Amino acid sequence: MAEPVVFEVPETALAAARRARAHPLCPECFGRLFGRLGHGLSNPERAERILRLLGEGPPAPILDCTVCRGAFDRLPTWVERVERAAEGLEWHRFTCGSRWDPERLAHEEALWSEVGTEWGESARSAFNRELGKRVEQRTGAEGGPERPDLVFLADLPVGLVQVTILPIYLRGRYRKLDRTLPQTRWPCRRCQGRGCTVCAGTGKTYPTSVEEILAAPYLAAARAEGSRFHGMGREDIDARMLGRGRPFVLELLRPRVRTLDLGRLAEELVRTAAGRVEVLDLVPCAAAEVVRGKEAAPEKSYPVVVVGEASVAKVNEALTVAVSRAIAQRTPTRVAHRRSDRVRTRRVVAAHVVEAGAGRFTLELRTEAGTYVKEWVEGDGGRTEPSLTGLLGTPLKVDELDVTEIHDTEA
Ligand SMILES: [Zn+2]
Ligand SMILES: [Zn+2]
Repeated sequence: MAEPVVFEVPETALAAARRARAHPLCPECFGRLFGRLGHGLSNPERAERILRLLGEGPPAPILDCTVCRGAFDRLPTWVERVERAAEGLEWHRFTCGSRWDPERLAHEEALWSEVGTEWGESARSAFNRELGKRVEQRTGAEGGPERPDLVFLADLPVGLVQVTILPIYLRGRYRKLDRTLPQTRWPCRRCQGRGCTVCAGTGKTYPTSVEEILAAPYLAAARAEGSRFHGMGREDIDARMLGRGRPFVLELLRPRVRTLDLGRLAEELVRTAAGRVEVLDLVPCAAAEVVRGKEAAPEKSYPVVVVGEASVAKVNEALTVAVSRAIAQRTPTRVAHRRSDRVRTRRVVAAHVVEAGAGRFTLELRTEAGTYVKEWVEGDGGRTEPSLTGLLGTPLKVDELDVTEIHDTEA
């Protein structure tokens, strides 16, 4: 339904319109000098009404409008360019922008003060809106700034439309059941990913990763150009990730297809992952989830199998002391090559012995985010203080470690 037309023209606007007649302006650009006056009219309709009030006929087409240089007359061509730029892509929502010669825009603002209008609207925002409306009509896609699939940029001086394909974000939780699998693709240290004899030309330290296994079916289905994996933290390569799994966001870059059959893809992943990785609850999400995941610092629970000679009574005694104290952890030796060397303060929130046998025992731990558990048990040559090894006065070694829970939500 068209909105009711409200258009009252004050005397000052008529005076400005008289002054504007001295400039070669197309009906769109003439009307837009009064674009914020009244509503329910297009700018050419505004132009027509104002000219009638000045006792003139309808506005004549202008070949070389000094503001837009004919950009508004060529809108149908721009719509075609948008369609061509989006060919072969699935899209439902979009945003339109445009790049203008800065001189044109400066000229328009100078014109506002010269003719004395306080109702002018910028050519660029009017063009973007008008182009968006026409693209909506032509394609049925929905225009607007919120969560677009595609962003079009009409480059007016160049005469081309550039298209940006926005990523698809999927969030879920993964379980890792394999102790040889890194979370993400790990470039070969020698060649930095280019491929060399050490990595047999793969550019990778490990043949595959949670990221690669998990992304493969989705990359193919979305016909995306690449992916990014955002895990809420990470576990060691030789640790399993169990329980409800670790939250992650999978970002599919430049996808050509956006409607994914998530049920079928989950089944395909079960086949291709062959029991090494499992994915739970994969659903579409917003880009903001990536940041949320990075900022989260959830506590974690681990069962740890420890090798060492100590009685259960003594271990329990040491754990009671350990839980009551803050731990000072210097960056572990094993990650010192990629993390800055500093001392962090962490806490083991809860700890108890769940199983004990000859020369080994299993602990159940709950720790703050970022606690290096192996080092807390073994001591890391005095870099973690206190450590269980230090409290017991006997050398301990972590044999196996798993993550059973990421406490990002209560469950
Ligand atoms: Zn114009
Ligand atoms: Zn290499």
